[in-house]
Amino acid sequence: MPGRIIVLPEELTNKIAAGEVVERPASIVKELLENALDAGATEVAIELEKGGYGFIKVVDNGEGIGREDVPLAFARYATSKIYQFEDIYRVKSFGFRGEALPSIASISRIEMVTRRRGVVSGTRVIVETGQVKEIVDAGCPVGTSISVSHIFDSVPVRKKFLKQDITEQGHCIDVITRVALSHPEVRMKVVANKREIMNIPATEDASLRISLLLGADFMDHILPVNGRRGSISVRGFVCRPEVTRSSPRHIYCYVNRRFVRDYLLKHAVMTAYKRLIDGKRYPAVVLSVDLPPEDVDVNVHPAKMEVRFKNPRDIYGVIVEALSGALTGVLARTSDGYTSSEGRVGYDGYQARVEEAMQRYTVSSGRRKLFFTKTFSSKEEDNTEQVVPAETVAEGLVSPTGMSFAELDYVGQIAGTYLLFSAPQGLIMLDQHAAHERILFEKFKREALESGEKLVRQRLLIPVVINLPPKEFSFLMTCRQTLKEAGIEVEPFGTDTIVIKSISCMLSGIEPKTIIIDLLEELSELGQSVTVKDKSDKIFAFLACRGAVKANQRLSVPEVAKLCRDLDTTPFSSTCPHGRPVYVSFSLTYIEKMFKRR
Ligand code: ADP
Ligand code: MG
Repeated sequence: MPGRIIVLPEELTNKIAAGEVVERPASIVKELLENALDAGATEVAIELEKGGYGFIKVVDNGEGIGREDVPLAFARYATSKIYQFEDIYRVKSFGFRGEALPSIASISRIEMVTRRRGVVSGTRVIVETGQVKEIVDAGCPVGTSISVSHIFDSVPVRKKFLKQDITEQGHCIDVITRVALSHPEVRMKVVANKREIMNIPATEDASLRISLLLGADFMDHILPVNGRRGSISVRGFVCRPEVTRSSPRHIYCYVNRRFVRDYLLKHAVMTAYKRLIDGKRYPAVVLSVDLPPEDVDVNVHPAKMEVRFKNPRDIYGVIVEALSGALTGVLARTSDGYTSSEGRVGYDGYQARVEEAMQRYTVSSGRRKLFFTKTFSSKEEDNTEQVVPAETVAEGLVSPTGMSFAELDYVGQIAGTYLLFSAPQGLIMLDQHAAHERILFEKFKREALESGEKLVRQRLLIPVVINLPPKEFSFLMTCRQTLKEAGIEVEPFGTDTIVIKSISCMLSGIEPKTIIIDLLEELSELGQSVTVKDKSDKIFAFLACRGAVKANQRLSVPEVAKLCRDLDTTPFSSTCPHGRPVYVSFSLTYIEKMFKRR
């Protein structure tokens, strides 16, 4: 399908939910695989070394890239998949942001060999940390081969966070499995550390693909699902209620063939199984929802793992209906005690359950059109959103330091970080991050003391779901109250998954999932013996640090004024929660001495 690659105009890139796509080797594998599928490949071979961070190679037989487009493929926001804003609402391809190749190229060395169908000669290009080093003609088969090496060499911190080879390889295999499950017509081969670990033929039969990937055993206990409502169709396979799993990891959901981690879909699945399986168990499900691309917004998540539906209620309903139908069939046949007096457990009352669940799944009513979530802020929002809402400020107070920042004359910002003020006694230099950090920290603490309910919080339209290792899960459960006081509502969902339902407005512009995961990382050192107050102080300090304006961020004059007013009403405003100074002052005497006037 795609034609020429173009660089998207800035008005459009601002609206795209930008994300740092390269988190770990598996993210690279995902993006390369999706590009291969977008190029119409019917065969894809993947090679991995050292769990992917040694080397990743993806070879496809897709349509290739024309010589003149090759350098563009590595330019940021260059894509052949959308040309204008409205296209976002009808994307059929996996990619559309033109971000993956440049992001990958910026942290690695890429060698790409590609030939477009119908063109005699191919192209070889070498890109190192974002720079095209070499581009020459090359003989090669039709399609594209991309080799990525030296991953994260230029970002050693990132490398430090990678887990053992085996764990990273596991993540890569997860990504490949998810893609393979929804693309049975594509032949896939995987070689890891020179050993072939997967080689599955193309097939028309989705169940064959499933049994090759999830085990023949799985196929013995599953039921086909089929449902349709209007333009929405639901297809897939679900397990019989007697063969459940201990984690929701085996619920694979796809929307228009894109693997998604979607709370609504999972919830619908669980609703269909409700009262059929034990509360702590999960079904294994491979479910594909297909609907017109304009009825789903895929531009809400950096890695496009979450989506937003135009008509969530219909989606929810058709899934519960289709699954309940399939499960009811089996229950009626086995009639072994699962069957209710009406003989239709799992189906009856589903309408009521849909209603009930929909109420919890808050959808902003009245806004029927698709829109971009606040949760993943667009670039324009960043600067303004980070400043504390004005209504929480009591005007006219003087800070306990005896100085009113609001009354100082603002001179300007230096190094994107320090704000300079002229004061009667000399020059004041304020660290914007430290100042904002202290303001937020005190605000979190004050709100917590005063009841915990007053913080302006933002309900997430689609609650964010995070699967956690048992240790982290139970630790997070002990932090729930503190988080709630800070405006973050977290609820358990099963035994290893949490749902973030709302987030403090002070933290808008930051991905909720990142906040929680980083918080766990940061607090993992805390022992059991730590007092509740210490723990909540640590949490508030962490959140304040995350929510505060960063260094190297330009502040407008009104934003500076706001910061000063807030600082005036904040106790302990001379240091940040980590103990660093918020401001330093240079007395006139000192300045005069420097100029040898004294
Ligand atoms: P996106 O997929 O969002 O368009 P990418 O950075 O992933 O952005 O890729 C940029 C462009 O490079 C794509 O739009 C496509 O035209 C081209 N491209 C990338 N990988 C392949 C491939 N394997 N086969 C053909 N074209 C590709
Ligand atoms: Mg792509």
